[in-house]
Amino acid sequence: MNTTNPITPASRILVVEDEAKTRASLQEGLQLEGWSVKTAATGDEAISVLDGEICDLVVLDWMLPGRDGLEVLMHLRQRGKQTPVLMLTARESVDDRVAGLESGADDYLAKPFAFAELVARSRALLRRVATGGGHLLRCGDLQLDTKARMAMRAGRQIPLTPREVDILEYLLRYQGQIVTREMLERDIWKQSSRFSSLDNVIDVQIMRLRRKVDGEGAGKLIQTHRGQGYRLAKEAE
Ligand code: CA
Repeated sequence: MNTTNPITPASRILVVEDEAKTRASLQEGLQLEGWSVKTAATGDEAISVLDGEICDLVVLDWMLPGRDGLEVLMHLRQRGKQTPVLMLTARESVDDRVAGLESGADDYLAKPFAFAELVARSRALLRRVATGGGHLLRCGDLQLDTKARMAMRAGRQIPLTPREVDILEYLLRYQGQIVTREMLERDIWKQSSRFSSLDNVIDVQIMRLRRKVDGEGAGKLIQTHRGQGYRLAKEAE
């Protein structure tokens, strides 16, 4: 589907999960995506794999017997390794989430999760690595400098509000994939959807962003998928 995807099929993923059935199904599912997948059942096992081999991404369960996911993560970062880490956890409180991210996790997924979302997030993290952690994100003639927080379309600057930059960066990181309102609500607005829905706010923001990015006869990059969410991609995709 996405021919511009820079991710090589041979990206190496380490799945750390103590629950045997979950571990096996994650391994199988991620292998079907074309990735090379190793597994570890304990924190100690994970550490010995990570000390000895290069991985492109670690899918790391937080609750593990012995050394837990947080300790594995801290070990990895103390050794100066920047391997992206996607934490899996049954913990849902904001404090726990903050603790995970502050310890150096790159993303966070609460159990139970949809496998498709794990794949989407894994792709996004691998893409970040594949683009050298650089601060230029591109899709067709659209370019976003995430450091200068400046967007250009066909060489012309697009004036964006800070929130619009956040949304555009998110859409670009997940380009070619559907981004749900729930994802935006959680990751951009940092809100749990349980209290009040931000659907209308999000729709209005996207509408404004689209007008700026896709207006004036430029090709349509931001698409709406009814009942699902939004997707940023080149027209042909
Ligand atoms: Ca566990």
